[in-house]
Amino acid sequence: MQNFNYHQHTYRCGHADLNMTDEGYVQQYVKMGFKKIAFTDHCPEKNEIDKRQNMRMKYSERNEYLESIRKLRDKYSDKIKIESGYEVEYLPGEENNLKELKEKVDKIILGQHFIYDDDNNLKIIDFNGIIKLTDNDIIKYANYINKSMEIGIPNIIAHPDLFMLARDGFGEIEKKATNIICKSAEKYNIALEINLNNIFKIVYYENKKLNILPIEEQRKQLKKVIYPCREFWEIASNYNIKVLYGLDVHFDGQIELFKELFQFANEIIGSKTINKLNFIEKDI
Ligand SMILES: [Zn+2]
Ligand SMILES: [Zn+2]
Repeated sequence: MQNFNYHQHTYRCGHADLNMTDEGYVQQYVKMGFKKIAFTDHCPEKNEIDKRQNMRMKYSERNEYLESIRKLRDKYSDKIKIESGYEVEYLPGEENNLKELKEKVDKIILGQHFIYDDDNNLKIIDFNGIIKLTDNDIIKYANYINKSMEIGIPNIIAHPDLFMLARDGFGEIEKKATNIICKSAEKYNIALEINLNNIFKIVYYENKKLNILPIEEQRKQLKKVIYPCREFWEIASNYNIKVLYGLDVHFDGQIELFKELFQFANEIIGSKTINKLNFIEKDI
């Protein structure tokens, strides 16, 4: 079973658990037997383009963030490997700022949450699925992800199927977007992440409280999960790409549930596809 996780947030982004410290997360990983993690909090923006509140650390906070990781890396070096990183979005025009962020950390994961519309305003994929993306938007979204890999930004593509939040079903356009993303991941040898945060939020963390329902009751909630998207991963399994799970931890309680979350993701995707996918055995 995967004993590493490269998708870990901190209180600095403003929408993760404000009571959890960086060290608190590290202690939970050690307790659960993890051997390597990367902190990949939502990146700060040098040019403030994403104007939403509580989405990311301030640019001025980045040194303190990296220093905190460095201290933990040294303190826990005999128990767990700790890397630094950011979760970033690609936007045309931001290439140099992204490269500047990349230079200072071990890992960059691309979690593409928006695109520019025709007037250069952000069109954001929201977690409630209220804003829908058009067919053209979806292809643009996939092309942004392709571009990020082409210019060498990410080590991992987080939730490559997130775009399903902004769509009503998996049809020809979704298939086309999936193929663009997978073809690019294969070409540039970039891993794709099966993201477990949507399962966590829907099955375990409604109303910001952990539920303790029996597993059969929890399983009934799985039909509400949008990503991982079964059809996306069926197509991905036909490519020669590396795959890994990402816990995308924002809350206390998420790390302890990793086995259950892996299991539920496998049930959504289906064993036939899971067995075909090329999971990373060790770290990357
Ligand atoms: Zn987040
Ligand atoms: Zn994330």
